[in-house]
Amino acid sequence: MSELAKRDPEIAAVIRKEEERQQHKLVLIASENYASQAVLEAQGSVLTNKYAEGYPGRRYYGSCEWVDEAERIAIARVKQLFQAEYANVQPHSGSQANAAVYLALLKPGDTVLAMSLAHGGHLTHGSPASFSGKLYRFVHYGVNRETELLDYEELERLAREHRPKLIVAGASSYPRSIDFERIRHVADEVGAKVMVDIAHPAGLIAVGIHPTPVPWAEVVTSTTQKTLRGPRGGFILARQELAKALDSAVFPGTQGGPLMHVIAAKAVCFHEALQPEFAVYQKSLAENAKVLAAELARLGFRIVTGGTDNHLLLVDLRPAGITGRVAEEALDAIGISANRNAIPFDPLPPNQASGLRLGTAATTTRGLGTKEMKQIAAIIHRLLTGLGDEKLKGRLAEEVRDICDRFPIPHG
Ligand SMILES: *Cc1c(COP(=O)(O)O)cnc(C)c1O
Repeated sequence: MSELAKRDPEIAAVIRKEEERQQHKLVLIASENYASQAVLEAQGSVLTNKYAEGYPGRRYYGSCEWVDEAERIAIARVKQLFQAEYANVQPHSGSQANAAVYLALLKPGDTVLAMSLAHGGHLTHGSPASFSGKLYRFVHYGVNRETELLDYEELERLAREHRPKLIVAGASSYPRSIDFERIRHVADEVGAKVMVDIAHPAGLIAVGIHPTPVPWAEVVTSTTQKTLRGPRGGFILARQELAKALDSAVFPGTQGGPLMHVIAAKAVCFHEALQPEFAVYQKSLAENAKVLAAELARLGFRIVTGGTDNHLLLVDLRPAGITGRVAEEALDAIGISANRNAIPFDPLPPNQASGLRLGTAATTTRGLGTKEMKQIAAIIHRLLTGLGDEKLKGRLAEEVRDICDRFPIPHG
């Protein structure tokens, strides 16, 4: 029996049940993945016991020689992975990374141009519900109504009109590559800095499947838990001249002691991402996303923008006559987790939503390939065109269960 099971059977049982749930469900949530056993070990290590406010070699606590080493290794690896001049690996999450960048580059009330949440942006890109929208004056660009692609002309027009101090690029549910060079030129014209938030496509960028923003942006922020397949956390990349401002905006600006166990786990994640197998994984997840999109389109679903360049796709459910919420609940009942999502110019409120966001990062980690993507597309099609048929639901749940049994999660 494990120490945890002995000391705290209640929490041990919760963890065991969550592990079973992960084993028996197919995850198509675009932001989820499975960290490796090595990442989990580092994250569950004694490094959690150490206080290390400050940075390697200049801490506010003694006896930091080993955690200094962990953080130096993490920094060196992530700089190598993304060819960056500077890195800060302390942000506790993607949102914390963004908060620190705003604190370093802006004053309250400053104008920022970012992608609208309704068209795929993130809460920390100026939503009124987030600190970002409360502290800074965000103006939002979106996608073109016809092409559903990022509207660079609107971005240009808004930049000239509002003269923002910062232009933010990057999104949570945009299925296409972003032209960072073009955004750089707009920023130069109006004297703005550029921050690119690569929380979602970071893994694809690391291996060169998605263009990198690093040469075009003063600052790049990311999470480690999505396509990068690491622990839950954030990091910042930047040009060297912003090092001091960013370091002090993370600590003491927005955080206290760094999570040294998570930083060690990030180092393991960056090491894994530098291996040739990681590029194979990213290629496979991008191919899986393309096949899933094409197969759903062949079966009659409308795919926003007609396809995908990355790991995620958006299905417009309006032609099918159902809402995102109904689809999400129906899929969950047969063992597929996915999330409802607003589509651009969505006539429904976000808690209903007309779309479904599907991603292939997690299923590809389990080893599913294009054959299984076609099977999953067929399952989704049969389920959503046969809602209310309980027998069909039972058969599809069995089919999902069979896929899960054939492709175990990579630990446990
Ligand atoms: C997921 C995400 C984040 C936030 O990450 P958390 O770790 O959940 O705080 C920030 N920006 C974008 C674009 C994201 O998709």
